[in-house]
Amino acid sequence: MAREVSPISVGLRCRCPACGEGPVFRSWLGLAPQCSACGADFSKADSGDGPAFFVMFLLGIIMMPPVLLVQALFSPPFWVHSFLWTPVIIVLAMLLLRPFKALMFALQWKNRAEEATWAGSEGDGK
Ligand SMILES: [Zn+2]
Repeated sequence: MAREVSPISVGLRCRCPACGEGPVFRSWLGLAPQCSACGADFSKADSGDGPAFFVMFLLGIIMMPPVLLVQALFSPPFWVHSFLWTPVIIVLAMLLLRPFKALMFALQWKNRAEEATWAGSEGDGK
């Protein structure tokens, strides 16, 4: 039996939620079809837009203080804010999406979350 791995630890390290060793991504945000270390099947993984929601929420909190500080100190026109913050937000979002997606996938894996179905309509209806 495989050892118990923390979904938070493997998620933030972007590792397989089953063994904690193999990489969970095959590209920047594309999940691998299976774990290269233990062979766990990732084909049913679907974190949907959950990671994007949490990243947007977190970035909104993180970005407000520097934006307000720049506004309070320099009162720049709107276009300065656009040129200043848009690249920062895009880069931070791309950096945060990867661990958040792996974390959501690891939590789904640990809790055996899957798409809801009506009893008897699909699968075994448990
Ligand atoms: Zn694995």
